[in-house]
Amino acid sequence: ATPTALMVGTGRSAKLGILIKNGEVLEAAHGIKAVVFDKTGTITVGKPQVTDIITFGDTEANVLRVAAAMEASSEHPLAAAVLDEAKEKGIPTVNADHFEAISGKGVQAQVDGKSAFIGNERLLEDFDLTDAQKAQMQKLQAEAKTVVIVGYDKQLMAFIGIQDAPKASSKAAIAALKRDGYKTIMLTGDNHLVAEAVGKQVGIDTVIADVLPQDKADQIQTLKNQMPVAFVGDGINDSPALATATVGIAMGSGSDIAIESGGIVLVKNDLEDVVTALQLAKKTFNRIL
Ligand code: ADP
Ligand code: MG
Repeated sequence: ATPTALMVGTGRSAKLGILIKNGEVLEAAHGIKAVVFDKTGTITVGKPQVTDIITFGDTEANVLRVAAAMEASSEHPLAAAVLDEAKEKGIPTVNADHFEAISGKGVQAQVDGKSAFIGNERLLEDFDLTDAQKAQMQKLQAEAKTVVIVGYDKQLMAFIGIQDAPKASSKAAIAALKRDGYKTIMLTGDNHLVAEAVGKQVGIDTVIADVLPQDKADQIQTLKNQMPVAFVGDGINDSPALATATVGIAMGSGSDIAIESGGIVLVKNDLEDVVTALQLAKKTFNRIL
């Protein structure tokens, strides 16, 4: 590959808001066979909204008070949804003690001096959901809503349904990738029903769900053993996967560490630019090889 041709490729792309770190990245991009996407903030907008609160005895206001107390110290996008909802409903803020974030699961803390948690089923060690509760949960999940469980003082307090809409361009971008012959895969820590519902909305081929943050890179390695893969992500959690992939593609809106780990950075956070970047790599290398 001649260095001048690589410069042309990367220079042209920079004007489009597609930053390619170097020629090797562009060369690797031209051999990609599968594109793996993170869900939240990559396929979806990353601004989740509370849509449903199902309480088991408490008032909605008290659920939001307890939930917001725990989420106030969390940096997860789901936490922002809970805090926004509490603020909108004018819920007075209380402080949680002994805050502990549990990666891929949620948060544990003390609220009003009582043990409390907010997160997914992995935090439910001591609880058994009834069949009716499971059905309520699965109904929300099938509607592409992430269900966050609130526990308080050893009681199941509520389910909070939280929705994060796909970006306007995600569906078209995934269709274009499929047309160009790429396999498309979603890799997420979220529940499989939610992931499959979102996957259906955007037309993705394969969904790999319930993946713990620390296992995302292993999943990419497994896929990479079969074919060259691009991973597209935005979160702190995504940086090992971005570094492991044949080509890591980071959202410009992503965390600093994700951007550092990516060989390609999409300034406009638009998945159509994944299509453009891969097409550009092919054009560049088909011309010069
Ligand atoms: P993703 O792959 O979508 O970025 P994460 O691995 O960050 O997901 O989180 C996986 C799951 O863990 C979430 O879908 C949620 O169920 C739970 N979770 C993590 N952090 C929190 C939090 N602060 N509040 C509620 N739930 C949380
Ligand atoms: Mg994400």
